[in-house]
Amino acid sequence: MRSLLRWAALLAAGISTAGLVVVGGNGAAVAVPACTVDYVPNQWSDGFTADVTVTNRAAPVSQWELSWTFPGNQAVISGWGAEVRQTGAKVVATSLAWNGSLATGASARFGFQAGYQGANDAPVDFAFNGVSCNEDAPTTTTTTTTTTTGNLPVDCTTATVCDDFEAHSGSTPGAPWTVGAANCTGTGRVSVDSSVAHSGSKSVRVDGKAGYCNHIFFGAPLSGSVVHGRFYVRHTTALPAAHVTFLAMKDTSDNNRDLRMGGQGTKLQWNRESDDATLPEQSPQGLAQSPPLPTGEWNCVRFSLDNGKLTTYLGQQEIAGLKVDGVPTPDIDRQWLNRQGWRPTVTDIRLGWESYGDGSDTLWYDDVAFGPSPIAC
Ligand code: CA
Repeated sequence: MRSLLRWAALLAAGISTAGLVVVGGNGAAVAVPACTVDYVPNQWSDGFTADVTVTNRAAPVSQWELSWTFPGNQAVISGWGAEVRQTGAKVVATSLAWNGSLATGASARFGFQAGYQGANDAPVDFAFNGVSCNEDAPTTTTTTTTTTTGNLPVDCTTATVCDDFEAHSGSTPGAPWTVGAANCTGTGRVSVDSSVAHSGSKSVRVDGKAGYCNHIFFGAPLSGSVVHGRFYVRHTTALPAAHVTFLAMKDTSDNNRDLRMGGQGTKLQWNRESDDATLPEQSPQGLAQSPPLPTGEWNCVRFSLDNGKLTTYLGQQEIAGLKVDGVPTPDIDRQWLNRQGWRPTVTDIRLGWESYGDGSDTLWYDDVAFGPSPIAC
């Protein structure tokens, strides 16, 4: 009965009901849901990806938000096809510029990666632009107040080093970048590439090969004890169990040894060259607090190094296991802080690939920015 009453109210109000109500076979008006959601998780022991298709059953929209609440401790790490943000158990996925417009009956598809412990039950309270998908289609056109985050390809307002690589006409990136490898060289390669790009038509491709002497980086000068970084990286092969590095910064406070970001135990990690300390610790509990780096898509990685404190984000999600906060935490930064007064002062930033045994990968970097102020994804 509710739908009939609503139908009558709509007619009285003179509101267009196109797409909101369908007429049943007996001539009576029957309501349709405001939205339908197809939620397909693909999970492993402590994480999952979800493929989400949302269909707009109400009036056309020019942008959308799909929200839900996780029933457990699921924590979003990164998203694609939407800006996926989590606050507590609530998640809001916001359309991007290219998939915000949805006619009645049209669908958008996006996905995300998340971690969890224990059960991974699916959410049941999906809402589309604030209207529950369990409800009938809304009686009025929803006005959205969504603000897209911009996702600017390059945020160069404060950065010291900032590059979308569009201006590089050579086969390798030119100034301010230098391509090279310390101590020995082999089959690693760096090239400006037009086959894949996060912005525009160019990125930097790194053909990273196993074995230390095949390491290769493209680097630029960067100095300070406060360094914020943001880069987009797309790679091909999952991070291996062995230790690998894809970002390095020379630390003059550590005898010019490198502070390195990369992977170990298949998860993202930081590593200190001088004593091989890792962040998180390589315990199961430590590894559970850092994600893998998803393959085959652009990942926004950012970090803040600030006078001996370090925070790291994958997309909008801060990574608990990649944090040095000055207070030794078992499985995270206890080993790291065994070195008293750790306070790096870096003099460069290098992106590329360095393996110490196993581990080869093909990576692309784009829209990189490094400087003294925070830089967003
Ligand atoms: Ca580019």
